[in-house]
Amino acid sequence: MSFTLHGLAVSSGIAIGRAHLVSHATLEVAHYKVREKSVSAEIERFEAAVATVRTELEALHGEASQPGSPSELAAFVDIHAMLLDDPLLSELPKELIRERRCNAEWALVQQMELLVEQFDEIEDSYLRERKHDVVQVVERVLKALMGKARKVAKRGKDEDLIIVAHDLSPADTIQFKNLKIGGFVTDLGGATSHTAIVARSLAIPAVVGLHHARPLVREDDLVIIDGARGVLIVEPDPRVLEEYRLRKSELELERSKLKRLKTARSATLDGEDVALYANIELPQDIEQVKDVGADGIGLFRTEFLFMNRPDLPDENEQYEAYKSVAKAMAGRPVTIRTLDIGGDKNAGALSGSERQAPNPALGLRAIRYCLAEPQIFLTQLRAILRASHYGKIRLLIPMLAHASEIEQTLAMIEQAKAQLRETRHKFDENIKIGGMIEIPAAALALGPFVKRLQFLSLGTNDLIQYTLAIDRTDEAVAHLYDPLHPAILRLISQTIAAGARMDVPVAVCGEMAGDPNLTRLLIGMGLRQFSMHPSLILEVKQQVVMSDAEQLTMKVGRLLRLDDPEKLREQVERLNI
Ligand code: PEP
Ligand code: MG
Repeated sequence: MSFTLHGLAVSSGIAIGRAHLVSHATLEVAHYKVREKSVSAEIERFEAAVATVRTELEALHGEASQPGSPSELAAFVDIHAMLLDDPLLSELPKELIRERRCNAEWALVQQMELLVEQFDEIEDSYLRERKHDVVQVVERVLKALMGKARKVAKRGKDEDLIIVAHDLSPADTIQFKNLKIGGFVTDLGGATSHTAIVARSLAIPAVVGLHHARPLVREDDLVIIDGARGVLIVEPDPRVLEEYRLRKSELELERSKLKRLKTARSATLDGEDVALYANIELPQDIEQVKDVGADGIGLFRTEFLFMNRPDLPDENEQYEAYKSVAKAMAGRPVTIRTLDIGGDKNAGALSGSERQAPNPALGLRAIRYCLAEPQIFLTQLRAILRASHYGKIRLLIPMLAHASEIEQTLAMIEQAKAQLRETRHKFDENIKIGGMIEIPAAALALGPFVKRLQFLSLGTNDLIQYTLAIDRTDEAVAHLYDPLHPAILRLISQTIAAGARMDVPVAVCGEMAGDPNLTRLLIGMGLRQFSMHPSLILEVKQQVVMSDAEQLTMKVGRLLRLDDPEKLREQVERLNI
């Protein structure tokens, strides 16, 4: 039966393909009774799965013991092997199967939940966090029990693989960069959550906040994602399917036409240059950046280098990553943002990551975390500074609000420089240091920012989150997310104007910069530096080359005086006609 689910549009485009259900955090497994005479076969099935995982872990241990592998990796594999051999995981589920005549998956998850509860009561935070290892071991055994989950053979050659999940963390989503995924949908999440942002960077259609996709969609269902409309169509009827196939090929054609703009000068009709920079998460994104001819990197979200690993990237590893980006951009600006961890972005290896903050978005995030963990911060600063010898690197500091934070940060940068001078490492002594304007307090009291920093970048995602008091990741309040709220427009335009007065360049690197419907508005506010996902650059360039900056300045000046949100919205729409 065909049905349609509506959610939040986070990454446009159309994907048509087979659904693949993935579990995250809560392991959802079927529960069924096995017949008396099948109990011993069920136990054997469980034993076989445990044996498979044991072999996998032995192979991993072999790899982890190779010279050059981080020592933590071997230790991590050892912990998993130990847990697997613990009778609590390898024996007790068998008793459950016998006593309750239930399937092996369910018995294992029941046992896991008991164990996790016990871990939760442990006071020692290191030991308490080992519960994640228990979950990971159980996930491995479940995978083995379920056999090779994906029946790839069923997929037709024109069909995409569509991930359907209850929720995905930014760390889960970033792993899609190495897989061929056609698109994804989730039940939870907000449109500017980092999961959504990563989806846009993958340039795959995605819809979040669907509420019921995970329970309603079945493995291998034929589905269509309409990313621009925020719609998921399950088992479409043949006419709808045909229409979407047509629309998909039209979109592909439009996209390939846009490629002609790659080498065109990014300037308005009246000759104002508008720099179009790219946002990246990992060094591998550079390929896409080059494909669209971006003017540089406006935001390198370095925290993604710290995710999905049992250890921290050391100074050399970070240095190599930053250097590779600087070299690839061959003299064009590369803006490296220091670690913005916390909020919805977590990295298990960072100290304090086990702490459940009462309100993570308002907690020890970004520069607050870095100032509280000076060794981690200094390591990153040294790595960035060393890489600055190989290109035009600029340092960007996230989530500043207080003058004292600016002072402390500048002092730490000086300390990192002094350490490098002592060890005779080369770096750019005049490296430019900038600050993100993403907390309303910063936008309202710009004095210390324009005095002490050399450039500013408006992080509109957080600026909107904190000004309108809506959690970016919570789909329940997603309808209140509004870049055109008069308060937001005022904060943005004031910041751009203050930068122009004080001769401090201002960029926008939040998602607003990549929305072609807002390009003219921002140009009219005086913005000349946009930073967005590479996949959006050509669409925005198309808007830039059709704009008249002088006319827009006048129109936007008038529009900003409006207080009525409806009239304001209408006028913004008129800019695009
Ligand atoms: C922002 O807040 O707008 C921004 C660019 O940073 P992030 O999305 O990584 O928080
Ligand atoms: Mg931000």
